[in-house]
Amino acid sequence: MNTAIYPGSFDPVTLGHLNIIKRAAACFDKVIVCVMINSKKTGMFTPEERVEMLCRATERFSNVEVDLSRELLAAYAKRRDAHVVVKGLRAVSDYEQEVQMAVINRKLNPQLETMFLASSEKYTYLSSTIVKEMARYGADLAEFIPREIVDDVNRRMREMEGKEG
Ligand code: ADP
Repeated sequence: MNTAIYPGSFDPVTLGHLNIIKRAAACFDKVIVCVMINSKKTGMFTPEERVEMLCRATERFSNVEVDLSRELLAAYAKRRDAHVVVKGLRAVSDYEQEVQMAVINRKLNPQLETMFLASSEKYTYLSSTIVKEMARYGADLAEFIPREIVDDVNRRMREMEGKEG
């Protein structure tokens, strides 16, 4: 089976991510969307909440699985018997870091290839950071994130603002 991994923080999943998931799902037998835990970053959502929101947003894709990992990506891919990592490229600014990671991952796991999908032009500007910023100002999020998770993001933002005083 031809399995690809799509790793990221997905804090929260955006329509840009979903576009990459849909296109990757059309290219591979199976796509594992994996929330990678970066202990240095605390997010808006816990890793478990991100997984749950990704599950709801990808329910209609029968060959997409959602997972969570604290491992190095190269080790995770080996354990899951996947030989391809899919990454989305938005702009030249993504390129340098992504290529560096691709080279390192292949050094750690020579069987692992990274494949880049060019972001759909509709979403080149979109990131989880921008979504959080817009949520803070009460913007309508329906154009930027899957409709299944709009209420979750608005609710969490209100909770966070409440705590900040
Ligand atoms: P972000 O940069 O939004 O915080 P992640 O760390 O979750 O996102 O990114 C996971 C992967 O998704 C990366 O390969 C990133 O380049 C890609 N990606 C993020 N946003 C988009 C988008 N709008 N279009 C295409 N790819 C994207």
